[in-house]
Amino acid sequence: MADHQAAKAPATEAREPQPSGEPGGSPPRASAAAGTALAELIAAKVRDIPDYPKPGIVFKDITPLLADGAALKAVVRALATGHGPVDKVVGIEARGFILAAPAACDLGAGFVPIRKQGRLPAATYAQSYDLEYGTATIEVHQDAFSPGERVLIIDDVLATGGTAEATASLVRRAGAQIVGVAVILELSFLGGRSRLGAQPVRALLAV
Ligand code: AMP
Repeated sequence: MADHQAAKAPATEAREPQPSGEPGGSPPRASAAAGTALAELIAAKVRDIPDYPKPGIVFKDITPLLADGAALKAVVRALATGHGPVDKVVGIEARGFILAAPAACDLGAGFVPIRKQGRLPAATYAQSYDLEYGTATIEVHQDAFSPGERVLIIDDVLATGGTAEATASLVRRAGAQIVGVAVILELSFLGGRSRLGAQPVRALLAV
């Protein structure tokens, strides 16, 4: 999978999670306030691990957020909301799986895993992309989607955007259309969003 990128997180105080409203459910000001509270909760619950997995990298560890039931529920709901009808939710190995499968349940949609090379048992499409040193390859089953299905891509962190870009390419090759890319945390100084072109990208918190 992608190499890990250095990042700094703002220190903020923990608050009660405020899930964003369903489309059309909340007035804009209430939705904005809920989004701010959720961003503050994420900032408080995602911890920085310096020099992991190697010196100079600040790893964004989402396990404290995952361990908080209310926070996990709010984040999954916010990732799933506001993309219009969704047929399939794609999760990127491995932390994307943890978020995408419950988001799919929330939406009544199917779940499709994007896996590292060699781990899917049936015929696959493969896509390679550049890492800081070397390349990585990810795969999707060729029959994962019906033609034209509406697909939401979910991962934990958007860094350089290489993983999400390769995932989007696989989804298109497999015959589906992408309605959005949703992540908990965007490391905006790495410019990953620009690699996704016109694709709508939602980050619950950008640092
Ligand atoms: P990228 O392809 O550079 O956008 O990297 C995104 C992928 O790598 C995601 O699957 C993330 O889980 C992981 N990743 C990249 N940088 C970090 C980081 N600083 N902390 C945690 N995960 C990261």
